[in-house]
Amino acid sequence: MKKGLILVLSGPSGVGKGTISARIRSHNSNIELSISATTRSPRKDEVDGVHYYFIDQNRFDELISENAFAEYVRKYNSSYGTLKAELERIMNKGHDVLLDIEPIGAMNIKRIYPEAVMIFVIPKSFEALKIRLWNRGSETAESFDRRNADFIKELNTANNYDYFVVNDNLSDAVNAVERIVKAEREGVKCNDFLASDQLDKIEKLKKGESIC
Ligand code: 5GP
Repeated sequence: MKKGLILVLSGPSGVGKGTISARIRSHNSNIELSISATTRSPRKDEVDGVHYYFIDQNRFDELISENAFAEYVRKYNSSYGTLKAELERIMNKGHDVLLDIEPIGAMNIKRIYPEAVMIFVIPKSFEALKIRLWNRGSETAESFDRRNADFIKELNTANNYDYFVVNDNLSDAVNAVERIVKAEREGVKCNDFLASDQLDKIEKLKKGESIC
């Protein structure tokens, strides 16, 4: 059986990774989301076993001691982790695995699976990101600030990624990720999005400038 791809999708909170990921999966039944475990409470539209496995900290700690995680982090006062069993379940079918995880976990996945395709989703500007995150309606003023405070920190990890995709227009971003997946399946690098050619975008974002 042909091995599937490991696709890691990272990017700042609120940039639209979840929406991009859902759209891509609705177009490609071969791509499956690695459902993470988290101790964060579900948002109003989130379903246990679909968006996350929602568990408490005791159960999370048990899973750590059972060595059940490929990687895990503590972020925004909650724990998040990729379950080894989840990766195996998808890989054993020969499907592509999509991980929607933050940069520290992403790097840990890259260490275990050097062939992982690392995609960094970025906003058009910090302003645009803040508007999107606020409009999502899921954050308190405090958690909004906490998530925004991570923006520059996350941008500073950009050179660990293979591709950047700007999520200004959703269907363009989905298209871009699908082109990357196609190119990677064919074993060809898609130069349009290659991160190494585009690091100047990250510098602009850090200065508060718009990149499109
Ligand atoms: P949210 O609370 O908005 O769902 O997720 C917060 C951050 O945690 C996002 O950047 C998301 O990609 C990341 N995340 C979700 N699951 C995991 C995971 O299993 N591992 C890691 N390292 N990050 C995760």
